[in-house]
Amino acid sequence: MTWEQEIIDYSLSCMPEEACGLLAKVNQTIRFYKCQNYAEDKINNFMIGVDDWMRIEDQANIVGIVHSHPNSKAELSEPDKKNCIGLDYPYYVVSCLDKNFKVFYPKDLKWCLLKLLFMVN
Ligand SMILES: [Zn+2]
Repeated sequence: MTWEQEIIDYSLSCMPEEACGLLAKVNQTIRFYKCQNYAEDKINNFMIGVDDWMRIEDQANIVGIVHSHPNSKAELSEPDKKNCIGLDYPYYVVSCLDKNFKVFYPKDLKWCLLKLLFMVN
């Protein structure tokens, strides 16, 4: 199974809660690592544990953060955008509605913020 199919299947299996995990490279191959969702409100949020992050970082090169939206589109929420920029990792958002995902890069989000600042001024 490809990691693309894996993140969609895993997201569907976690419904109605948000699924989360990390994409990481091992020997040039991208693998999906499922993580436990530590958020208090798992229906609307996700939180990856530090232990999971460190365990995966030890054995692979993290290339993206995956989470799902059980009942909405594969678009970033405002907190998602902030976290994506803050953590500086690509965000893969799976929509359980569309059974598809999109990827967002921190540098593109920063560019949008800059454009907004220039428009305001
Ligand atoms: Zn989200």
